[in-house]
Amino acid sequence: MKPAPFEYFAPGTIGETLELLSRYGEEGKILAGGQSLMPLMNLRLARPRVLIDINRLTSLEYIAHGADGELAVGALTRQRSLELSPAVKERNPLLAAAMPLIGHFQTRNRGTVGGSVVHADPAAELPAVSLALGAELSVKNERGERAIPAEDLFTGLMSTAIEPTELLTEIRFPPWRWGSGWAIEEVARRRGDFAMVGAIALIRFDGGDLCQEARLVLFGVGDRPLRAARGEQVLQGRRPEPRIFAEAAAAAAEELDPISDVHASAEYRKDVAACLIRRALQTALLRREQVTR
Ligand SMILES: Cc1cc2nc3c(=O)[nH]c(=O)nc-3n(C[C@H](O)[C@H](O)[C@H](O)COP(=O)(O)OP(=O)(O)OC[C@H]3O[C@@H](n4cnc5c(N)ncnc54)[C@H](O)[C@@H]3O)c2cc1C
Repeated sequence: MKPAPFEYFAPGTIGETLELLSRYGEEGKILAGGQSLMPLMNLRLARPRVLIDINRLTSLEYIAHGADGELAVGALTRQRSLELSPAVKERNPLLAAAMPLIGHFQTRNRGTVGGSVVHADPAAELPAVSLALGAELSVKNERGERAIPAEDLFTGLMSTAIEPTELLTEIRFPPWRWGSGWAIEEVARRRGDFAMVGAIALIRFDGGDLCQEARLVLFGVGDRPLRAARGEQVLQGRRPEPRIFAEAAAAAAEELDPISDVHASAEYRKDVAACLIRRALQTALLRREQVTR
């Protein structure tokens, strides 16, 4: 199928883009990599009257790191650029590890970091990683700029706190906590498919061997990426070992209320979620970096 008719703009500056977004509001849609929006338009599941193509805004394509170790990524940065960046690999190993799990290298060549986060597919990797890492997003409209913490961003199925008149410009990932354990695990039907279920584990240790803080995020099991607060509580202050991991995984899965669909039943998703959390915690422990920077 072909898309419904639309008007097309390709602004050359952020100012022009914001003016167009303000002029067309709900009727306008930003086109970034087009890897999600174009299929939706071709199927006529999305019928924007106006497309605002931001691919000329090259000032939004960058990976920058602050002196404190923060990683700032322009919204139009291609997923493949993050994947291939030695600096990302070195400074944020979880973010780097998530990249090859997103679709195929062809889709990552076009797909942008901002597009993936705004599209907010509940089974997508980047929204889940942003939540796990406590990222912060900058959005602009004609009246100014505001910051949105990732934990406030996802408001429901494929919906975010970003207004139709706002442009996402940057995503900032806080400095990596060296000495942390981390892992991302997922199950998908075929390589390159969206995850049926995915799990991220981050563990920070105290000076000794106890878990000081844990972050567990699940994706593909709800209407948005989810923090597993009960699972995290189980780990806090405990010695990381298989028995505790199993307890945390069971608590995390208990909180879930996934849907059944053609890909998997709700029960199966819960079982897989528990299994992936356990596996992610085990890998995180093994991967605990000894490096202190
Ligand atoms: C075959 C295939 C397999 C895929 N597999 C996966 C997968 O396993 N995991 C996964 O996460 N994704 C997957 N995807 C989706 C892919 O990652 C998309 O690239 C991504 O979801 C959207 O990024 P985009 O730049 O293409 O955005 P677009 O499709 O251009 O836009 C997506 C949405 O975001 C909005 N938007 C984009 N940029 C901005 C901005 N800067 N400010 C405000 N709004 C904006 C658009 O208006 C639109 O609503 C797959 C896609 C394909 C085609």
